[in-house]
Amino acid sequence: MKRIGILTSGGDAQGMNAAVRSVVRTALDKGLEVYAIYEGFQGMVDDGDYIRKMDWDSVGGILQLGGTMIGSARCERFYTREGRRLAARNLIKAGINGLIIIGGDGSLTGANIFWQEWSSFLAELTASGEITPAEAAACPHLSIVGLVGSIDNDFSGTDMTIGTDTALHRITEAVDAITSTAASHQRTFVVKVMGRNCGYLALMGALATGADWVLIPESPPDVENWQDVLAERLKAGRKAGRRDSIVILAEGARDKNGNRIGSSDVQRALEERLGEEVRVTVLGHVQRGGSPSAYDRILGTMMGNEAVNALLSLRPSDEPLVIGIRNNRLTRMPLMESVRRTQAVAEAVEAKDFERAISLRSGSFKDAFLTFKTMVRALPHPIDPAKKRFRIAVMHAGAPAPGMNTAARAAIRLGLDRGHIMLGVRNGFEGLIEGEIETMDWMSVSGWAIRGGSMLGTTRRVPKGRDLYSIARVIEDHHIDALLIIGGWTAYESAFHLLKERPNFPSFNIPMICLPASINNNLPGSEFSIGADTALNSIVDAVDKIKQSAVATRRVFVVEVMGHYCGYLALLGGIATGAERVYLHEEGVKLRDLQADVEKLLNGFHAGKRLGLMIRSEYANPVYTTDFMCSLFTEEGRGVFDVRPAILGHLQQGGDPSPFDRIQATRLAGMCLNYLVEQCEKGEHNNAFIGIQNGQILFHDMRDFDRMVDLEFQRPKDQWWLSLKHLADLLSKTGPDDEVG
Ligand code: ADP
Repeated sequence: MKRIGILTSGGDAQGMNAAVRSVVRTALDKGLEVYAIYEGFQGMVDDGDYIRKMDWDSVGGILQLGGTMIGSARCERFYTREGRRLAARNLIKAGINGLIIIGGDGSLTGANIFWQEWSSFLAELTASGEITPAEAAACPHLSIVGLVGSIDNDFSGTDMTIGTDTALHRITEAVDAITSTAASHQRTFVVKVMGRNCGYLALMGALATGADWVLIPESPPDVENWQDVLAERLKAGRKAGRRDSIVILAEGARDKNGNRIGSSDVQRALEERLGEEVRVTVLGHVQRGGSPSAYDRILGTMMGNEAVNALLSLRPSDEPLVIGIRNNRLTRMPLMESVRRTQAVAEAVEAKDFERAISLRSGSFKDAFLTFKTMVRALPHPIDPAKKRFRIAVMHAGAPAPGMNTAARAAIRLGLDRGHIMLGVRNGFEGLIEGEIETMDWMSVSGWAIRGGSMLGTTRRVPKGRDLYSIARVIEDHHIDALLIIGGWTAYESAFHLLKERPNFPSFNIPMICLPASINNNLPGSEFSIGADTALNSIVDAVDKIKQSAVATRRVFVVEVMGHYCGYLALLGGIATGAERVYLHEEGVKLRDLQADVEKLLNGFHAGKRLGLMIRSEYANPVYTTDFMCSLFTEEGRGVFDVRPAILGHLQQGGDPSPFDRIQATRLAGMCLNYLVEQCEKGEHNNAFIGIQNGQILFHDMRDFDRMVDLEFQRPKDQWWLSLKHLADLLSKTGPDDEVG
């Protein structure tokens, strides 16, 4: 295979551009010729200038753009054999025998039919003289790899599709905004989001925003009179002190008889029962709009790279593959089987077999639905007098990380719902030492799901010496049975310390668990920590603006990002913004590297380049600091380019948590609470930290903490994301005259 085509088809999705860029550059790097087919299948069917050769720079500067720069279309003619025959002719004329298609299940179905018909087209077109025998001989087979671009996350076999995360960003931004106006006026809002057969956006949007109710296609309300139940729920919420009521409705929501529930049905039902005006907001295409999130840029980039590798691995008669991501690892699946499984959900919904529909969804979807049902209760279930109630304390520790509040709220509500006494510790370990502890009730955490910072307060203090006596006394005085610590390195270090001091302080013999919350993503046993996704998005937003600011100059930016000794934010930020160089402490920085970078910059700018972007992890090297690098580049680039530092600083720790951070915080907090309650019930007092690894939630024994980390540089020994460095290097290779991105 020498010449491949790439096209985007069906509904557009943010992150498609990242995938196109990655496909084009990976293919060029492998020595392939790559053609973009503009306007999806339409461009393949129509004669004209739709099939265009791409070079390294044709995909520069597109990472941050929403939609798809090579166009997408719905193509009626591609549904017909005659249309697909024309498409085959055009591809063969262009000498293309490998295709990468980014689209939804419709587009991928079309692609599969096209693949099955290829040899018959070849014979017919040769016989009719529309293609020459030599042209036919150059394309005896067609190889196809699909990528799923769909904001609905409705594709079976992949945990995420390209575009879903950004759509969730748009939904949470909108619902957060609506919540504040709704709360001011004590109003009820119905918000309709996309999802014809898949309630993912509605459910995760509701979980992330703390909405009061959600209606999704796979799991309709189980009662006939859902309108009465819903109205009662909202009334109870108001009575309990909620000021706003938000109902999120998926496009394809239905009642238990399979009848569609529209936003006006909900509006009417609530107006009649609540006796107040109910507003409807239909989010519509806003969800497809805007700049792609950090995750979608990275996902598109990873999948695009993998698609080219997969295409090259296909033997001539191999059936098409589709690239997915399962448990944070890329996968290759047979395309048609995945499409069939995807369509089975829609068929189950259509046939009102809702149990099957929800069972075809992933386990985390089902868990999320159960968690949501508890979180939205106006008040906890009545207390069962026969059950033992435990006193469980929740605290934050270390630097603030967006999503900490979401986790505390979830743990407190889930604990209250199960009848336990939930205590809030103010101001981290400082508060625990001073005994700043209060009993939390259901409404005391209202509104916390969406807020950045730390509502409980947090400090960086690590308890030492006499502090331990105070903590022991506070645990005894407040009869604390179990402790949940939400935080970063400080939290883990302190918990580890308390564990080691157990022989001296018997009251430390209670179950404790740490929940990873740190923008640095430097905690052991977890591929992600709460807050890192928000920080990454803040970095991406800031760098997008920095890039724009330089249009009128020839300039190099040295952007310094946080992370301590952990380069996660720098590397992933670099991939998501198209930086040409990322400096990490893990790799080290040598003078010869800097010299090579200066040469590369000079060559680039001499050849017409206008912008350079270097991202430096804050502690990448103690001598070659950001200042040093700027001085060096300034001196060497004199007369060719100027240099500016951009130290992003604390904006990375702030901001409202991203949807991903909110959802993971809720999930993890629920699991931590289960752990603590189980320990209390069994009379055990293990000490653990929780994490997400390979998509699974795992508990690690706190005794393993020091074995799993590099104590000097405060990071895990095993950092999965370092394997992405080759991708960052590949995509940032610079052609002589390219732009950043
Ligand atoms: P999505 O790919 O986002 O699911 P559509 O279902 O609208 O979007 O499909 C996009 C395009 O893919 C269609 O306009 C058509 O050109 C092609 N396509 C979809 N389904 C088929 C099919 N069954 N046979 C042939 N082409 C199809």
